[in-house]
Amino acid sequence: MNRAALRVSLLLPLLLPLLLLPALGRAGSNSESDQEHGGEDPPHSPGKGHSHWSYEDLKHWSTDYSDCGGTKQSPINVDTDQAIFSPDLRPIQLSGYSLPANKQLKLKNNGHTVVLDLPETLALTGGYAQQYRAVQLHLHWGSPSGPGSEHTINGRRFAAEIHVVHYNTKYDSFTEAMVHPDGLAVLGAFLEVGHGENQYYNEILKHLLEIQEVGQETLVSGFNIAGLLPANLKLYFHYNGSLTTPPCYQTVKWTIFNHTMLLSRDQMSVLVSTLRSPEDELLQNNYRPVQNLHGRRVLASFQTTPSLWGGGSSFPAAATYAWLAGDVLAVLFGVLFAVTALAFLLYIYKHRSQNTRLDSPTKSKVIYTAASTENTA
Ligand SMILES: [Zn+2]
Repeated sequence: MNRAALRVSLLLPLLLPLLLLPALGRAGSNSESDQEHGGEDPPHSPGKGHSHWSYEDLKHWSTDYSDCGGTKQSPINVDTDQAIFSPDLRPIQLSGYSLPANKQLKLKNNGHTVVLDLPETLALTGGYAQQYRAVQLHLHWGSPSGPGSEHTINGRRFAAEIHVVHYNTKYDSFTEAMVHPDGLAVLGAFLEVGHGENQYYNEILKHLLEIQEVGQETLVSGFNIAGLLPANLKLYFHYNGSLTTPPCYQTVKWTIFNHTMLLSRDQMSVLVSTLRSPEDELLQNNYRPVQNLHGRRVLASFQTTPSLWGGGSSFPAAATYAWLAGDVLAVLFGVLFAVTALAFLLYIYKHRSQNTRLDSPTKSKVIYTAASTENTA
C-alpha cells in the first residue's frame, strides 16, 4: 500500500459520513454519462475546402486575421503549479454521443486536418454553465520524428491531440456563435502511443486512405464518439482562449482533459503519415505553437499542488491510468478501516456518552485534504 492509501485509510473514519453521500451522488451522475464523453475544439472553417493560411506561414496569420494577434490566443502551455484548483468545475457530461451504426458521418481532409462532422444531437450537458451542441471534431499531430499536440503540459508535447468543437445553444448556428465571447466550447484530449489498438480511433483511421487528397471526403458509420475521449471526464484544465487556426476568434472556453488516450504505434503511424497537404506533401505537424497567457488563469478541476498535509506528491499531469489501481485499493482499504472505526466509536459512544465530541477544526482540514488525496493517489 502506498502512502496515499495509508493517508486515506487514516482519514476516512472521520470523514465517512461526509464522504459517502457526495460519492454516491457522483456515482449516479457518472453512470448516466458513461456512454458519452465529448470533446470539442476550435473548428477549422467547417464546410469550406481549405483556406490559404498554412502552418509554415504562422507569422502572417495576424496580418490577415487580426484576432490571431490577440491576448487570449490558443493553444497554451499548462503549468500545473500555476493552475488554480476550482471545486466548482464539475465533471463534463455528454449526451447523445453514442451513435447508431446506420448514422452516416462525413469525414474530410480539409487540407489542414481530418474533420469528422457531428450531428447536433450530441451535446454538452454538464461541466459548463450553459448548454453546447457539437459541430465537428478533428485532430492535430506531428510526424514520425516528433510529437504534435497543440497544448502542452509543463512544457511536454504529446503525440497528438483531439478537439471536439461545440457551440452555445443560445445561438442559432455555429457561425453565429463563433464571434461571441461565450460562443464556443472545445474539449481537448492528448493522444499517446500505448499497447493495443484503440477501436474507437480505428473507426476514423481506417478511412484515412480514402481521403488522402485535399478536399476528399467519405462517409463513416456511427459509433460511440465518447470513446475518442478519456473515460474520466472529471479531471481537466479549463481556460478561456481561441480557435487555434485562423480566424483565431477568442471565443472558446477550453477544457483539456488530464487523462490521455492510447493508440497503437501502427495507428499513430497511420494518423501522421497518410493525409496529404495542399502542397501535395504529407500533412504533418499541423499544430500551432503555444501562445502567451497574457495574465490569463488556468483552472483545474482537481488539486494539482501538494496537499496541506505535506508529503503529498503533485498530480502527474496527463497521467495514464496506472494510478487508478492504487486509488481503488486506497479507497477500499479506507472504507474497511472506516467501518471498523465507526463500530468502535459507536461502542465507545454507547458506553461513555460523555466523551464523543470530534474535534471540529481537524474535521474541516480533513475535508479539504480528502479531495486532494483522491487526486494524488
Ligand atoms: Zn483544433
